[in-house]
Amino acid sequence: MSDCLFCKIVKGEIPSFKVYEDAQTLAILDIAPVNKGHTLVIPKQHCVSIVDAPEELLLPTMKTIKKVSIALAQYAEGVNITENVNKAGGQLVSHIHFHIIPRYLQDGLQLWPSRGGYDKEEALATLAAIRKLLKE
Ligand code: ZN
Repeated sequence: MSDCLFCKIVKGEIPSFKVYEDAQTLAILDIAPVNKGHTLVIPKQHCVSIVDAPEELLLPTMKTIKKVSIALAQYAEGVNITENVNKAGGQLVSHIHFHIIPRYLQDGLQLWPSRGGYDKEEALATLAAIRKLLKE
């Protein structure tokens, strides 16, 4: 897409700090890192997220995520791998990308603070709703 920030980065129209590149994917430093080394893995083909991505795009993307994660897990002490989907998920750029965030034991980052559990009825209702959507 001509007005897509990440398509422009893929084409080299906007500069980036390239961590890794192959025929189907690009990995660049996030310009607003959560921790130093925070890397984005971007499939070169435009789609919005994992929800609309063709399955054949996901294997090369996962291979790049694995390759970069191996490096970042040594650069730091661990990593988080995440994709933000839709506005509610915190997605800021509507071109599929995965965050690989270097982590340290003492970095104090709390990505997923617990917000309580389920009672049995609530768990079963949640399961039923999700499983119904999986079958559709
Ligand atoms: Zn794009």
